[in-house]
Amino acid sequence: MPEGPYDVAIIGLGPAGATAARLLDSRLRVIAIDQKQAAGGFQKPCGGLLAPDAQKALARFDLTLPKEVLVDPQIFAVRTIDLKSGLTRHYQRMYLNLDRHRFDRWLRSLIPAGVRVEEGCVCRRVERTSGGFCVLYEKEGALREVTARYLVGADGAGSLVRRAFFPEVSIRRYVAIQQWFPDENPNPFYSCVFDPENTDCYSWSICKDGSFIFGGAYPARGCRARFERQKEKLAALGFQFGEPVKTEACLLLRPAGRRQFCTGRDGVFLAGEAAGFVSPSSLEGISSAILSGSRLARALNGDGDPVRAYARGCRALRRKLWLKLLKCPFLYDPGLRRLVMKSGLEAIGVERPEQARPTAGGR
Ligand SMILES: Cc1cc2nc3c(=O)[nH]c(=O)nc-3n(C[C@H](O)[C@H](O)[C@H](O)COP(=O)(O)OP(=O)(O)OC[C@H]3O[C@@H](n4cnc5c(N)ncnc54)[C@H](O)[C@@H]3O)c2cc1C
Repeated sequence: MPEGPYDVAIIGLGPAGATAARLLDSRLRVIAIDQKQAAGGFQKPCGGLLAPDAQKALARFDLTLPKEVLVDPQIFAVRTIDLKSGLTRHYQRMYLNLDRHRFDRWLRSLIPAGVRVEEGCVCRRVERTSGGFCVLYEKEGALREVTARYLVGADGAGSLVRRAFFPEVSIRRYVAIQQWFPDENPNPFYSCVFDPENTDCYSWSICKDGSFIFGGAYPARGCRARFERQKEKLAALGFQFGEPVKTEACLLLRPAGRRQFCTGRDGVFLAGEAAGFVSPSSLEGISSAILSGSRLARALNGDGDPVRAYARGCRALRRKLWLKLLKCPFLYDPGLRRLVMKSGLEAIGVERPEQARPTAGGR
């Protein structure tokens, strides 16, 4: 016999699902299912940079970040490299450099005890029933079933919920590949790389607690070969790669138009990346995940039609992401990007001592 009925079943406890679970009214019976667990198992591949928009999203709830979530070092500028034109510029950035898994665990720790959280569990199937939904998930090798009145897909780019209920919604997709190396670069840095020969999106590198991470978003066809070709080009520019200690890959969504966002209907809701809420210009998605998760909780807590209330609640977010689409040509069109970078607009000059002396920290 399936267990339930719950009022809400949430699939996925990334920033979107964890925020919704935290904010749902205590009178609602809620179950949240996620494949992550405290240690080991699945961890979300991510650059782990908390952008100002995401900081603002946390500030809206008066949340402050524990220092355990931060990593070393904090970096104030992005080195932007255009491999086609050969131009390099530095731009100021106000990101916080995080351990993404610890960040997710911290968001998870804020979920009230009244919510039933099933961790280390993989959702295998979701179905509509006469009274709502049936969710089949795997826990410690055994299959379990629960029923719920509302179903929330906060299960990221490859969303099972989106595929089951909205197969017609297609969102532009890339394969994100990231590799971790022991950091042997002379100075920690954050970079953003444009290389139209290998991808019409972009690549990045970041240093975290003694590791150097290089990653990029590539069209699916030949993605691994594109990644390796890019590493070769960057090694020639002085990037120190060495032997990788970890390679991760996952799907990454990058909406290409307004119709690619989908908040749901008929009792099924999508939040965060599952809904297509990712910046098409920077790929930043944590802020949109938190915002959409909070809007969804507000809609489900209210007395009106939650589908309409949620769609309405996400209007400003959709508008913001649509405006970012308009910004894309200035970043991704090689000619326009070259003009912008050449102009030096908003770039900062980086001065280094002529003869670098070792500092107390050794760098
Ligand atoms: C390589 C890479 C780097 C990125 N870097 C940044 C960055 O630096 N800053 C930034 O703001 N954004 C970044 N993003 C985007 C950002 O990671 C996402 O937009 C954000 O995580 C979306 O949050 P979410 O809660 O919607 O989904 P997710 O964070 O993907 O969470 C989905 C959750 O659902 C769970 N799940 C999925 N399927 C199932 C299932 N069947 N059963 C059980 N659980 C399931 C997963 O375990 C996961 O915890 C990056 C993305 C990638 C791929």
